[in-house]
Amino acid sequence: MTDKKIATQLVHTDYLAPPNFGGLNTGIHHASTVTFPSVAALRARDWRREDQYTYGLHGTPTTFTLENRIAEIEGGKHTVLAPSGLAAIMMVNLALLKQGDDLLLPDNVYNPSRDLSDGLLKNCGITTRYYDPMDAAAVAGMIQPNTKLVWIEAPGSVTMEVPDVPAIVAAAKAKGVLTAIDNTWAAGLLFRPFEHGIDIAMHALTKYPSGGSDVLMGSVTTADLALHHRIKLMHGILGLGVGGDDAYLVLRGLATMQLRLRQTERNALAMANWLKARSEIAKVLHPAFYDCPGHAFWKRDFSGACGLFSVVFRADIPQTRIDAMIDSLKLFKIGFSWGGSCSLVMPYQLDGERTARPWTEQGGLIRFYVGLEDESDLIADVEQAFERLST
Ligand SMILES: *Cc1c(COP(=O)(O)O)cnc(C)c1O
Repeated sequence: MTDKKIATQLVHTDYLAPPNFGGLNTGIHHASTVTFPSVAALRARDWRREDQYTYGLHGTPTTFTLENRIAEIEGGKHTVLAPSGLAAIMMVNLALLKQGDDLLLPDNVYNPSRDLSDGLLKNCGITTRYYDPMDAAAVAGMIQPNTKLVWIEAPGSVTMEVPDVPAIVAAAKAKGVLTAIDNTWAAGLLFRPFEHGIDIAMHALTKYPSGGSDVLMGSVTTADLALHHRIKLMHGILGLGVGGDDAYLVLRGLATMQLRLRQTERNALAMANWLKARSEIAKVLHPAFYDCPGHAFWKRDFSGACGLFSVVFRADIPQTRIDAMIDSLKLFKIGFSWGGSCSLVMPYQLDGERTARPWTEQGGLIRFYVGLEDESDLIADVEQAFERLST
């Protein structure tokens, strides 16, 4: 089905329902034990095969269908699911790194990934160094003989800098180092990692693919079979199986994902434009805005934006007023994550967090996820809350 356009791929599946049953949706298979017809079949089982079942942890027709669909939609060949986006990141790191290896992360990386590197990976004897996401040339200079993996995040999901991905990939490839991208902001659609030579695409399916704010899942997609096997092996060793019901919820979300993504893109742009005109705002950090760091790369490499962006307030507005403003929002809820129907907001304190390119903005930063509500209601909600900034 790979000759079809993405909108069609999102709706149609190769899943075969039982004979004579014309249901459109993938069946939900619940299985821990999977039985074998004979001892010979048991001994011949091969965990590498995507069409053989060995144990529930390894996969079921429901999870294999979702894996195949994500691989196809994201332009790769093989996908491994994990119980969260963070578990998917960990699975990649533990599959590809060992004691004595070195890892490069962007300084604006998804923060739990930084905690994983500075904690568990460090304790395993793996070093992590942070690069300035806006300085691709520096990445080339930082690669050492023991550097095994470079992560890319485009854009950083709080501060929104868009890196020059092709330049970072070229620098890594020149030294034979693997590249992995956290492609969550682009929903696996707006940026096409495999067309840029990236080896591994990670996606928090928790966000747009699920779309329901009700399920956690991550995916790791590759185009190379040997690399896929390394990740699948670690998936099995760590026991990172996902349940059939959760896989079904994500499968159910796929068909409407592009539609939801486009609507939230529109709503977010309307909100961001309104914010840009407000005197309380020093900066709108949205990749589609010309003054966002890396805007030219976004324009060159991406086909659109999602509903997630941030703003920096004027430096003279105290954080207590910003907090009071957030508290008086009615439609925007205070919560982590994004990609669902409901608009969300989250304040971030970035001082001291970065090491390669310290955050120098003086004003408070908040991140908006603009959901599927009516855009004029959302703007009215923020407008009434903004009264708290001055009183
Ligand atoms: C949410 C998110 C993750 C982690 O996904 P979970 O399923 O919440 O663990 C990783 N990276 C980015 C950019 C995210 O937004």
